[in-house]
Amino acid sequence: MARYRCPCCGHIYDEAKGEPHEGYPPGTRWESLPDDWQCPDCSVREKADFEAVKET
Ligand SMILES: [Zn+2]
Repeated sequence: MARYRCPCCGHIYDEAKGEPHEGYPPGTRWESLPDDWQCPDCSVREKADFEAVKET
C-alpha cells in the first residue's frame, strides 16, 4: 500500500484507507483512481500532481 500527497494542501491519499466519502473504499489502488480525480480537500490539484510519499 502506498500513499500520495497533494502538493497544494498536503492532503494524503492512503491506499489502505481509500476515500470512502468519494466512493473509493479502503484498499483502492492509486492506479484505480480516474486520471481526472481531484484532491478532495482543495479540488485544485489533480491526480498527476500528487507526489508519492516515501515510507520511512
Ligand atoms: Zn489538495
